[in-house]
Amino acid sequence: MLEIKGLHAKVEGNEILKGLDLTINPGEVHAIMGPNGAGKSTLSAVLAGRDGYEVTAGEILFEGDNLLEMEVEDRARAGLMLAFQYPVEIPGVKNVYLLKAALNAQRAARGEAEIEAPAFMKLVREKLAQMKMDKSFLHRAVNEGFSGGEKKRNEILQMLVLEPKLAILDEIDSGLDIDALRVVADGVNSLRSEQRGVLMITHYQRLLDYIVPDVIHVLADGRIVKTGDKSLALELEARGYDWLLEADAS
Ligand code: ADP
Ligand code: MG
Ligand code: MG
Repeated sequence: MLEIKGLHAKVEGNEILKGLDLTINPGEVHAIMGPNGAGKSTLSAVLAGRDGYEVTAGEILFEGDNLLEMEVEDRARAGLMLAFQYPVEIPGVKNVYLLKAALNAQRAARGEAEIEAPAFMKLVREKLAQMKMDKSFLHRAVNEGFSGGEKKRNEILQMLVLEPKLAILDEIDSGLDIDALRVVADGVNSLRSEQRGVLMITHYQRLLDYIVPDVIHVLADGRIVKTGDKSLALELEARGYDWLLEADAS
């Protein structure tokens, strides 16, 4: 589904990603962990196609297509979706309209008709209830005045409605209290399916108690320096990251 080979990327003239390789197959949940400043958010920004990130070498294939040649909107339509560490506010645009417009854009890309209003409302109400969000959130401007936890819930709500093929979550756990963490994790777990890939970026092991990944990678200094199963998270919790950096340097 996602194949990253030898990815090098620069931000503001500095090389941040230095030969990153990563493959995600449908049905798999991968976690990327790593020290602050390792390049985790840079990777998610490159995948999303954000401005200011220059890919200098390597390739990214999404379902066999060259992702780096795709416009940002086309990436979303193709089924790649990101939830950010700091979700953006969109003043003046109601949450419900954004959800509907995004869903219909996706359906149009698949050659499907627009969703009927009653079916849409039924879908959205069901997903709101799942995320333990009040109906009033539909009629508020996107993320405007939302608390940190509410923004994160809203990001997962969007994913539950849009059902991306590949869901990328960058530090979705940061700033969440334990109850919100459970709701967000339950939402992500309900995204798990044989057709879908999930890439979770997290600084802390805590999230992985709730969303158990199939594969864990450590990203350090712009490359994947270690890959393992869920037991790797516990080892990292106990030992930190330094031992990997030292082993990598030798
Ligand atoms: P992580 O998410 O792993 O903590 P980031 O990808 O956010 O790391 O950052 C990696 C490095 O790139 C850091 O040294 C950071 O300062 C730098 N960096 C990231 N974004 C920018 C930017 N927009 N401008 C300048 N430097 C940046
Ligand atoms: Mg960081
Ligand atoms: Mg980050």
